[in-house]
Amino acid sequence: MLKNFIPQLQVDTIYQIDLHELKKNGIKGIITDLDNTLVGAREPNSNPQLMEWIKLVDSLGFKVVIVSNNNKLRVAAFSDPIKLPFISRAQKPFNKSFIKALQMLNLKADETVVIGDQLLTDVLGGNRLGLYTILVTPFSLADESFFTKINRRVERYICKKLKKRGWITWDR
Ligand SMILES: [Mg+2]
Repeated sequence: MLKNFIPQLQVDTIYQIDLHELKKNGIKGIITDLDNTLVGAREPNSNPQLMEWIKLVDSLGFKVVIVSNNNKLRVAAFSDPIKLPFISRAQKPFNKSFIKALQMLNLKADETVVIGDQLLTDVLGGNRLGLYTILVTPFSLADESFFTKINRRVERYICKKLKKRGWITWDR
């Protein structure tokens, strides 16, 4: 159970992900979280650095879908201008939206990565379906919703347990 919270890869930001390595390992699609993964939780729009990354992702042939637990207003306002498909109110970690995302990408679980900043939603949900999970460090904890703040407390507890068992070396 506890092992479901361990991401296959942990990085500070999406920009540290070795996209060429992913491609070499047969990855063809990216399911990514939005808030505190691509931009801060209160940042409405993309930015030049992110646009460069999306261009690179695209040029390497990856397909992308944004899967967020946030509402449609927020996720559409971010995703539509940069022309990325999305699922809002995803209710991660439940399977439904991950499965829908795989269908949108037309890919299998072992061809797809999940990128996100939360153990309880992104990592747990992705791991349970056999996706390759990548955990990023959230931009800022200050702007998070009430429920996310609760998740963070549980997350810190889980991290302590994982660390005690020697299963992770990074910190939260
Ligand atoms: Mg997030």
